[in-house]
Amino acid sequence: MFPDYPFEPFLEALGDDHFADDPDLETLLKHRGLSDELHWKRVRTYGHFVGSSAKAAANVVDRVDTLPRMTPWDDHGREHPVGVEVHPATKRILAATLRAGAAFEPNTLLRYAMGYLASQVGEAGSMCATACTDGLVRSLQQLECGPEAKAALDHILTQAPGGPVHGAQFVTEVQGGSDAGTNATLATPVGDGSYVLTGKKWFCSNLWAQYWAVTARPADAPKGSRGVALFMVPREIDGRPNGFRVDRLKDKLGTRALPTAEMTLTGAIGYPLGRLDAGLANMVGIVLSTSRFWCTIAAAGMIRSAERIVHAYAHFREAFGRPIAEFPLVAQTLDDLSRDRRNHLAAAFEVLSAWEDPAPEAQMRGRILVQLAKTVGTSRATKRIHEGIMVLAGNGIEERFSPLPRLLRDSIILETWEGPHGLLLARSMLDLRKAGAADDAVAATRALFGTLDGPVEALGARLHDILHTPEERGAAVAFRDWAADFYDALGAAAAADAGI
Ligand SMILES: Cc1cc2nc3c(=O)[nH]c(=O)nc-3n(C[C@H](O)[C@H](O)[C@H](O)COP(=O)(O)OP(=O)(O)OC[C@H]3O[C@@H](n4cnc5c(N)ncnc54)[C@H](O)[C@@H]3O)c2cc1C
Repeated sequence: MFPDYPFEPFLEALGDDHFADDPDLETLLKHRGLSDELHWKRVRTYGHFVGSSAKAAANVVDRVDTLPRMTPWDDHGREHPVGVEVHPATKRILAATLRAGAAFEPNTLLRYAMGYLASQVGEAGSMCATACTDGLVRSLQQLECGPEAKAALDHILTQAPGGPVHGAQFVTEVQGGSDAGTNATLATPVGDGSYVLTGKKWFCSNLWAQYWAVTARPADAPKGSRGVALFMVPREIDGRPNGFRVDRLKDKLGTRALPTAEMTLTGAIGYPLGRLDAGLANMVGIVLSTSRFWCTIAAAGMIRSAERIVHAYAHFREAFGRPIAEFPLVAQTLDDLSRDRRNHLAAAFEVLSAWEDPAPEAQMRGRILVQLAKTVGTSRATKRIHEGIMVLAGNGIEERFSPLPRLLRDSIILETWEGPHGLLLARSMLDLRKAGAADDAVAATRALFGTLDGPVEALGARLHDILHTPEERGAAVAFRDWAADFYDALGAAAAADAGI
């Protein structure tokens, strides 16, 4: 006879309201100035939605038999206008998330509080789409563009019934993701302001979106980054596919509910977004920075999710007559999860305020912080989720027992997508040099902390040594460690400032 072993106490401890069980989030939002009663109502409602309906739906869309699939033809033998099909639950979660405002709510405290909550259920099919829509909307709002692009913006912001209406972004080609100046997709002018795009894109996530931001090289453009322009490409024109072919769906380690394709543009009509010779700069400065920030907020949300599960389990499970929470290494994991959740959440909102600061002198701080936050935040999420799985041990490995295995796989994608660590750390070092850190590293470190109190002198002294290390590899390795220590210190200072 097996003993009766009900898991109900563990399941009940997980709760169904991800806002209500997170008082630090409420304190932080108050501290940052969220005051409108309607905004509070919306974030509360959304917290309940993700902890109940979205959580249930997320648990079905990442299974072998529910993954996205290719649909090259429609039921009557015509080219399918999308080319891929996602699970209806992904559509429902995404539609509700976009209607809630998680991609374009003007109050960004509310927008990214919803992002933090949404990421906790680990439904990559809607998370990636929400992040990409945010980046596309920002670029449509900020860059000079024609009537087709303006109509796309209206369509997204309206979220007409029959939605979700969302965005995607295609830069990466087979010869390079980081080195996007090598883009070879060709843009040939039609003569009416539009261009015909031909070429191959190697990683196209969320391509069932109606509107894409696509980089391509105009026929007469120079080599390198300045020759790469940015276009808004509608997926369909007059109900027919707009000149593209889905070649293959990637078989990915993580974010499996999200379709990511290799795609050939066979003559897609695109409309310029911003100046042609600033396309790559705009893509990086607006669209990719937005995705990098989303990776940061999602990483904090995933740490929160792991903390909730591991805490519930460690106080439910007993071994050798004791709750496992009392074993020293389990207790350490719990403390690490709680500390990083608190500090990385607080740091993310500090990064947000730096990134959105319009003052010219604030631009560099925002840019460096987004790069460091993406790198440190996402690698920390992977580490903490991994440690959390070890607390649940056998049950942590099991895909249906909890979302931890899915969160681990998705977190590794956050690390890779939109700039792997090596690239972003190298860029941050370059930016710090541009900001004069080689001459005065303490002042540069103080500038990164903004108005927060942190161990500026100690970190500044280390940064000075790193920037004066002649050997490239030694400097890069030391800077990687510095970045983690800096970001942890920024988070601790931001959390203390907010009183969480
Ligand atoms: C699940 C998933 C979905 C994706 N979806 C999309 C999408 O929708 N649209 C899109 O455009 N792309 C997408 N990508 C591609 C992604 O953005 C790229 O993988 C990423 O930008 C890195 O490019 P790469 O893979 O070509 O690596 P590479 O650029 O070849 O980099 C390889 C290694 O070299 C290092 N490296 C490169 N340059 C430097 C440097 N200057 N200094 C130091 N180190 C460096 C990197 O850190 C990395 O470790 C997706 C990727 C994944 C995994």
